[in-house]
Amino acid sequence: MNDILFPTPAPVLLPMRDGSGFYPVGRIFCVGRNYADHAREMGHEVDREAPFYFTKSPAHLMLSGQAMRYPPGTDDLHHEIEFVVALGAEAAFVSADEAMSRVFGYAVGLDMTRRDLQGQAKDKRRPWDTGKDFEQSAIVAPLSRADEFGLPGPQQIELELNGEPVQRAQLADMIWSVPEIIAHLSTLYQLGAGDLIFTGTPAGVGAVRPGDRLHGEIDGLAPVETTIAAR
Ligand code: MN
Repeated sequence: MNDILFPTPAPVLLPMRDGSGFYPVGRIFCVGRNYADHAREMGHEVDREAPFYFTKSPAHLMLSGQAMRYPPGTDDLHHEIEFVVALGAEAAFVSADEAMSRVFGYAVGLDMTRRDLQGQAKDKRRPWDTGKDFEQSAIVAPLSRADEFGLPGPQQIELELNGEPVQRAQLADMIWSVPEIIAHLSTLYQLGAGDLIFTGTPAGVGAVRPGDRLHGEIDGLAPVETTIAAR
């Protein structure tokens, strides 16, 4: 008997902004502390030690425009707006010069974080999974093609909470640039189409509560939006 014993999970599909199709999401990598002012606000030294990563399950992706239920197990849910890179070709041990040819597109994302659980994990030198990787924790807007967007650099990245700006920076403020991140990550994983990379958040992270509205923009990309629903 080769029957599949439970319903097969649905593929995780990110719509193209121009309606030209859907990008199938395979893995979600996230870069930690990639803007100096955010590293400082979290109490860390700013350095150019190698970038570090955590991951989120694709099943925990939520499309922009839906409500996010306030998750269980936390009293300190935080917003982190991020520039999201979608790969479209194999990348293993690529140089930074080669890396951008592997990029398919870009989107605006929210790396939602149970900050209290993340903080407890840091204190005890335990993994970050419960703080970072939970249902609806990776919120992503529709994807734009890389050639339409151009090279990341001068674009503004900005998040509004209930209409008030709370996070604002330029993509050029990243400590590790997009090609440097791809090159480094490609020494650790065999990257390819379906891999999303959240590239870190600028300063201004903070708590959200039920009823709050988040609206995030990066010049040239579809905005990311959600409202926080009751527990
Ligand atoms: Mn983040």
